[in-house]
Parts: sequence; structure tokens; C-alpha cells
Amino acid sequence: MTKYNWCHNPDCHKIETQSRIRGTGDNKVLRTVKIKVGRYNWNNDNTRNIWDYFCNQRCLFEFLNKFCTEIANTYSVKQPSETPIKVKTEKYESHRYKYNNGNYERIPYQATRRIIENSS
Ligand SMILES: [Zn+2]
Repeated sequence: MTKYNWCHNPDCHKIETQSRIRGTGDNKVLRTVKIKVGRYNWNNDNTRNIWDYFCNQRCLFEFLNKFCTEIANTYSVKQPSETPIKVKTEKYESHRYKYNNGNYERIPYQATRRIIENSS
């Protein structure tokens, strides 16, 4: 059975698009977008997807901006989390360009990068 959600942006119905127009004659309205649940679930495996709740990015971000304080209070982060890792340091040849009289001169140097090794 196909399930539908209404877009969760409380102001979805105020956005002027052709697709939101409903009604007959002089009784036209802009209506909140109806979303088919699973519309972007290409695997058909019932995984949750943000686009089951918001019709597009504009509505998602309008919602997040309007309720950011409530979301942060509901799912608050009081301290940072940490993931244990192993790090390897590696030197490699890199270069930078130096501007000199209308030309760029390529200057090699030894750079260092840190590589996070596969922990699992
Ligand atoms: Zn919407």
C-alpha cells in the first residue's frame, strides 16, 4: 500500500509554484506538497529517508531554520564524541607556485600528510 506524508515545512503552502495550486474556479489555494513515501528509495528496502518528510531542500532548510533550537534541545550534544583511530604520518613530494614577473614558478617541497588507517 502506498503511503503518503505531507511536507513537514509549516510554510510549504506559502511557496508560490504551479504544482501547489489546488481548487476550482475562484477558490484556488496553494497547498502543502503531498509526498509519496519511498519516492527516492531505489533499493525498495524500507530505509528511512529525509525526502519522505520534505518535498525539497528549500522546505527542509526552512524547517531546520525555524526549529533549530528545538532540534538542538531535543537531540542535544553536551560534549564531543571521539572515535579511536590509528594515524600514520607520511612524507611526500609536493609543490607550490611562486608568482614572478608574470610567470608562475613551480617550487617543489617535502610535505607531510597524516593518513587515518583502517581501524576495523
Ligand atoms: Zn514542502
